[in-house]
Amino acid sequence: MQTENQDPAFARAGAWLTVSLKAIADNYAHVARLGAGAECAAVVKADAYGLGAARVALALAGCGAKTFFVAHLDEGIALRASLPDTRIFVLHGFMPGCEGSMQAYGLVPVLNDLDQVRSWVQLCAEQGYAFPAALQFDTGMSRFGLSEADLQDRSVFEGLNLQLVMSHLACADTPDNPANMMQRSRFVDMAMAFPGVPRSLAASSGIFLGPEYHFELIRPGAALYGIAPAEGNRALKPVISLDARIVQIRTIQAGDRVGYGLGWMAPRSTRIATLGLGYADGFFRAQAGRGAVWHGQTRLPVIGRVSMDSISVDLTDAPDGLKAGDVLSVLGPEQDVDALARSAGTIGYEVLTSLGSRFHRVYEPNA
Ligand SMILES: *Cc1c(COP(=O)(O)O)cnc(C)c1O
Repeated sequence: MQTENQDPAFARAGAWLTVSLKAIADNYAHVARLGAGAECAAVVKADAYGLGAARVALALAGCGAKTFFVAHLDEGIALRASLPDTRIFVLHGFMPGCEGSMQAYGLVPVLNDLDQVRSWVQLCAEQGYAFPAALQFDTGMSRFGLSEADLQDRSVFEGLNLQLVMSHLACADTPDNPANMMQRSRFVDMAMAFPGVPRSLAASSGIFLGPEYHFELIRPGAALYGIAPAEGNRALKPVISLDARIVQIRTIQAGDRVGYGLGWMAPRSTRIATLGLGYADGFFRAQAGRGAVWHGQTRLPVIGRVSMDSISVDLTDAPDGLKAGDVLSVLGPEQDVDALARSAGTIGYEVLTSLGSRFHRVYEPNA
């Protein structure tokens, strides 16, 4: 913490998020080893799951990632500024009429329906160059992608420079689910219409299903950011920690109440602390009465409702002498992203992508 202590923005911060680029690099290496034989791409949509797409993507490029995925065209345009020469797929393709921006920024659309296919073929014809594209197949999720019927007339696809065909698994986090095998076999059948084009089916959970799901390219997101895709895959390193400073401490008397709705009543004289993070920062309202923060190994329960900008915690079990400015841990060794998610009745993905933009951010270097 030497260098951060010299940073006035750090000194002012009510809470700060530490992102370990080294842990992301280690997770990338772990997943790439599992998928050895397939190219290991990196999914950095939603601002790299809340962690900061520009920083995270550069770190991953430094680990050898050559292909990136985002969801929206504008995410691709933003990422292009950080990665001028890297292959970037845009999962949603483009809105009608926006294929020109896709091409102008050198992004590769994932074409999801026949209209997108026709627009891209036409753009390529007009420009006299077959710009790269990918195709997505719907193998059962009914979300994105071409149906089997869409593949009947092959002439629609003539002139496409296809770099990838892909689909997405609905139930990969439950390895025994028969839907996985079913989607896989449908994917193999549909991909046969495009022989020789690299195939991709597995996101993080799919990678853990085994090599028969890896094909030529794997697309991890969550695993890179340290969230376990299924119980038992604990080889991943935690990537973030979140620390908050105490804003104010007070002692309230038996019968005094705390927070909106005066929803919590002190059973006895109680020392409480107010921390400057709330639901605007991704500390969910659902954690009222269930969530906690930590002082070392001591659990300090959240009391009363979660406000937009603050929470109150019970300091009964904390050491005496805590004061304003002292630090409590929200995400750390005692409570990881998945544990916080459980206390809020959600999943790690939602915790990460809800992390607020107000935290001071500290990026620990790649190596
Ligand atoms: C989000 C996404 C991924 C990455 O999923 P994780 O579970 O985070 O690894 C891969 N492919 C597609 C199509 C996605 O939408």
